[in-house]
Parts: sequence; structure tokens; C-alpha cells
Amino acid sequence: MGAEDQRIRRSWLIFAGTFFALGLISAMRLLGGGAGPLDLAMTALIVVVGFAAIRHRLAVQQLEEGRRAEAESFARILQGLSRSISPDAIVGAIVEELGIGTAADHVVIVRRRPDARVLEATLVNARTGGSTSSTVFPIGDLEDPPSLDDATERDPVGIPIDVDGDGAPVEIPVDAAPAGRPRLGASVGAVAAGGPPRSGRRMPDVGPTAAIAEPPAVAIAPRPGRVRPPDPRRLVAERIAKRARAVFGLRHTLVAPLATDAGQIGALLISRRTASGWSPSAQRILNGAAIEASAALSRAYSHRDAEARAATDGLTGLPNRRYFDEFCALLARRRRAEDTVGVLMIDIDRFKGLNDAHGHVVGDDVLRAVAAAIAAAVREDDVPARYGGEEFAVLLRNPTLAVAVDVGERVRSAVGRLDLHRFGVGPVSVSVGAAVADGPDEPIVAVVEHADRALYLAKRRGRDQVVAA
Ligand code: GH3
Ligand code: MG
Ligand code: MG
Repeated sequence: MGAEDQRIRRSWLIFAGTFFALGLISAMRLLGGGAGPLDLAMTALIVVVGFAAIRHRLAVQQLEEGRRAEAESFARILQGLSRSISPDAIVGAIVEELGIGTAADHVVIVRRRPDARVLEATLVNARTGGSTSSTVFPIGDLEDPPSLDDATERDPVGIPIDVDGDGAPVEIPVDAAPAGRPRLGASVGAVAAGGPPRSGRRMPDVGPTAAIAEPPAVAIAPRPGRVRPPDPRRLVAERIAKRARAVFGLRHTLVAPLATDAGQIGALLISRRTASGWSPSAQRILNGAAIEASAALSRAYSHRDAEARAATDGLTGLPNRRYFDEFCALLARRRRAEDTVGVLMIDIDRFKGLNDAHGHVVGDDVLRAVAAAIAAAVREDDVPARYGGEEFAVLLRNPTLAVAVDVGERVRSAVGRLDLHRFGVGPVSVSVGAAVADGPDEPIVAVVEHADRALYLAKRRGRDQVVAA
């Protein structure tokens, strides 16, 4: 027990002891028969005060337990999030605790995947914890500029809202935003379109939650002369909530926006079947969970971006040599007896001359065009990579040598057909070395070496040709 708790307990004991002594004296006077009306009134007062004190004590206890449960619930959400690296794990980590902490029946996460223009909505049954259903919402629900129609009429528009993210409520003069129907200014469009990146490691600015099905009974009237615009992120979150209610058949929802440094990415909703009001504690937990989930998703996305950047060649956008080597190592570990691999090594012919004649910038343009032609000429299963300088490699899955040579020919003729007039350059050619593993035990590095030797032969034999190892 903490010092604070001990102090409260001690004062409660002093109060209860004094109260008990007073009650005893009063009872003795009554029983002694000499009690007048004043004694009766005193006894009645003591009884009333006693009841009030007990009720107060119980209410305080309940409040403390609620606060403790809320803090514990939030701590568990945080713990789950801190261990989650993948976005899906983050979603899983908040759903269960959010359901328990807010006594919700369903939790819905709606988020845009950074690598696709899709708004993905996942509904989780918080009671069973397991059953989920996913669907896709129109991306416009997130990206279209929000309007006041997105808020329900009963929504209390006009509460001070931290629009600029500095923690202080913002108020806009009436002439900037006419009362009753404020215009949404440029900042609204900017946020809806992704918004400018915010500087520093700052928690995303997630506005207040909006109770949609159960707004406060009394709408708060704007003070005369000033009107405060609704938070655009909250309007977008409400629009998403409206869609979620229609699609999933939800009724009583509470929603909070999800936002990363790059702007709003979706919304987090909890829903209940019955119409009993959401407690302030549920609102706080949802707000906190939305802020933490936003930060965790932000971290996960930037982690993935960094990984993708580390594996990609900046000039051509193809996988780089590091990725190619790692992929080969991974494949070597997973290779089954019947798997074979093939490698094409591709080198642009007389590229130094092209650089010397037209400059490096044009050389880079040609490199990009050649890379695109190679990527388009191989199957999706094959892995093309920029191996270094003006040299490319392609890892072929399960080819015969004839097939490898065939793919090599396809690459050679695709590059030869490139129209490079826009760069002021005539046709270019490539030499290709093709090799296929003898069997599943032959290391892929050995296959790369054989293909390299074949490439060298192709150069020796006059370039612009495919040679099999
Ligand atoms: P070969 O037909 O024998 O392959 O002749 P080559 O001129 O292509 O061969 P070499 O290895 O002598 O020259 C390769 C050139 O590729 C030299 C280098 O300037 C150029 N190069 C390598 N990487 C880049 C790049 O990222 N951008 C540009 N513009 N040029 C590059
Ligand atoms: Mg070359
Ligand atoms: Mg070379």
C-alpha cells in the first residue's frame, strides 16, 4: 500500500471512530430516557451523515477501481503495441484489450495500406476475440475533403478543437467561418490529401473522439461572435464510422482518427449492441489506443520503408545486389530436391563509350530504360536485380538450360528494341551469360560464376548475344 493510500485509510479511520463515538453517546442519551428534541435531531443527523459518508466512501472506491482498471487496460495495450512490429500484429494487439477495457462488442480498424490505394476495414468480435471479417471501403472515405455533412446532426459541432496540433483549442472568427456552417479551409484539404509531414517525433494529433450514436443530450452552443471549426480528422473518422455502421450493421459506435506523420490513415471504432452510453473512461481508452496505435503503425511503416529502401537500387528501382544475394541464400536453404535455379548475367555493351559521348546523366537514363526492359522481359517469379554498374542479374526459378537461354534471348531483343531517341541515343545492346544448376546441391554462387564466365565469352565472341555456360 502506498503512502497516499495509508493517509486516506488513516483519515477514514479517524472519521469512522469519531462518528462511532458520537453515535454511541447519542444512543446512550436516548436509552437513558433524558433525551429532548435536540438529542433526537442530533441522532437523525448522525444517521444521515453516516449514510452519506458510507456512500461517498463506496463511490470513491468505485472510481479508484475504475481508474486502476483503465490504467491497467491501457498499460496492456501499450505492452502489446511495443512488442508489435508488423502492422497486422499491431492491429491484433489493440483489439482484444480495447474490447475488454471499453466493454465493446466489436472493434473496427479501418486503415489505408501504405503500399496500395485501398482502405481496408477489419471488424473483430471483441467478445469472442477471434471472429473477424474484412472488407474494403472506398478510398474517398479517407481522402475526399471532409464536409460538415460527414458529422451527424446531433454531433456537437462547436467544441474547442485542437486543429493546429499545439494542444490549445483554436477559435476562428465568425467572418472566417460563418456560424452554423463553417467553411473548411486550406488546412482541411491539406490534411485530407495526406498533409505536410510533421517535424520531430511528436505524437500524432488525434482529435477528440466523437460519440456518434449517443451524443450528449445538450448540444453546446457556440459562444456569440466566435465559432470553432470541427477537426477535419474527426469529420473523416465520422464518415468512416458511418460507412462501417452501414457495412457491418453496427449501431452504437465511438470513433477516433488514426494518423501517422504523413497524415490521417484511417479510424479506430468501438461498437456496442445496446444503447447504454459510453463512459468517459471508454472514450479515454479509445483515444489513448488510437494515439498509440497511430504511433506504432507509423513506426511499422517507416521500418518497412527503410527495409524496402535498403533492398532497392535507387537509380533503377530494381532489387539491388544485397537483396539478390540474400534472396539466393534464402532460396538455397529452402531448396527441395526437385528445385533447380538458373542465372542470367547481363552487361550493357560498350557503355563506357555511351557515357563518354553523351554524359553520365544520359547514361543513367539509359540504365533505367534497360532495367525496365529486363524486368518486363522476365516472369514474375524470376528475380531481376541491378548487380552493379551496368551489369544486371536475373535469378530464374526451375528453368532448363534451353529455357534460360530463351529468357536471355528475350532480354537481349527487348533491350535491342528500346527506342532511346528521347535521350538522343541510338540503340544499345547487351551480352548475356546463362547458366543452370547441375542439381539441388550446387550452390547458387557457383551458378552465378558459371553465368559470369559465359557472359565473358559472349563479350569475347563479339557482344550482343547470349552464351550458355
Ligand atoms: P563492355 O562492352 O566490355 O561491357 O564495355 P563497357 O564500356 O560497357 O564496359 P566497362 O566495364 O569498361 O564500362 C562500364 C561503364 O559503366 C563504366 C561506368 O562509367 C559505367 N557505369 C557504371 N555504373 C554507372 C551508373 O550508375 N551510371 C552511369 N551513367 N554509368 C555507369
Ligand atoms: Mg559493359
Ligand atoms: Mg560491366
